[in-house]
Amino acid sequence: MENEIYIGTTWGCIVVAECESMRPITVFRPYEEEVSAILALPVKADCRPSLVNSEKSGRNNLQNVFMILFISPATMDETEYLHKRKRFVFCFKFAKSVPVLLVCSLIGYSYFCYNFQLCWHTIEAVWQRILYMFLYHVILIMLLWSYWRTVFTDSGAVPRKFKLPDEIVEQFKSASNEEGKLQAIEKYANDLPIVTRTYIAGRATYRFCFICNHLKPDRCHHCRICGVCVLKMDHHCPWVNNCISYTNYKYFVLFLLYAFLFCSYIVITTLPYFIDVWKNSTTAQGGIHILFLFIIAAMFFISILSIFSYHLYLVGYNRTTLEAFRAPVFENGRVDKNGFNLGLRNNFKQIFGNKYVLWPFPIFSSSGDGVVFPQRYDVVIGASMNNAEATAAHHAMMYP
Ligand SMILES: [Zn+2]
Ligand SMILES: [Zn+2]
Repeated sequence: MENEIYIGTTWGCIVVAECESMRPITVFRPYEEEVSAILALPVKADCRPSLVNSEKSGRNNLQNVFMILFISPATMDETEYLHKRKRFVFCFKFAKSVPVLLVCSLIGYSYFCYNFQLCWHTIEAVWQRILYMFLYHVILIMLLWSYWRTVFTDSGAVPRKFKLPDEIVEQFKSASNEEGKLQAIEKYANDLPIVTRTYIAGRATYRFCFICNHLKPDRCHHCRICGVCVLKMDHHCPWVNNCISYTNYKYFVLFLLYAFLFCSYIVITTLPYFIDVWKNSTTAQGGIHILFLFIIAAMFFISILSIFSYHLYLVGYNRTTLEAFRAPVFENGRVDKNGFNLGLRNNFKQIFGNKYVLWPFPIFSSSGDGVVFPQRYDVVIGASMNNAEATAAHHAMMYP
């Protein structure tokens, strides 16, 4: 039948595909007001929900685009499709884990080179062997612990109260003009602790995720790879196969710190033996491993130094990577890249917590709830304070 199409989501874009062949007709990033119109188009009754309903695509967002492009459910029976789909999901998950496996392999290789080739076979003094191996293991444990927590910590779901009730969604869809749609959302959002805004139709209004169907809390963004909204999203990191967000930012910074220490330590302790191997042009197996170990550690030392110092700068100014590229917009359309900057000490405390003893360990100690963040005007919006009250308090501070 004419007009029958499949609709799926990919990377925050909408895919419209032919219902018979599943070949994409168009892939585009819609303006907010176009979404409801697109979702209202007639779709085939038996189409599979994960490919059709943008609300249900959930975590499989990036997965869906490849599935739409490579698997055509319309051309095969249910069993064959489910079998192919299962295999596809496995391959996709494996492909995303490759960078993590690479990091683990490099750490494993460094372990072999450092402990067996350098400490055991090359260094002669026993005290030096023991000291070098002891310090290596201390840094390694901290590195692996931080890495583990960064990779396996859930990036944080948006609380249910930010989800729009069905009646508000209906009001939004049925509103005839832009103003009506925005008013439907604003009526609900006024009671939520949200101070950041976006520009729609020339005015600052609440940020809304059309894929997850909820209002975005402050500093929350939709991750196109994970397919969900993430609290205080920093960026999606392929090296940890996870989003760096409110829940694991401390672990990520500690991972960078220990990776930096790990590489520095290897470079410093291996340098004399590297020079020795280089000068004598030894081709013995141990010599080649020490050569490789030094070169790999030096390369990572340089790249991690730049990433680590950049994130120290961001923590110092209380900015996420996304906010560094695009400053947040506050009430009344005020664009302020320092909106959450509370001063160096407080900024570090927001990430690492009030107990200094917990700072070096990948144990959760960040302050707040990932939803409400104090602003530099010292207006702290408590859970009991609604948005109108917070705005009034904010204005009282700004314009006494
Ligand atoms: Zn979202
Ligand atoms: Zn992500």
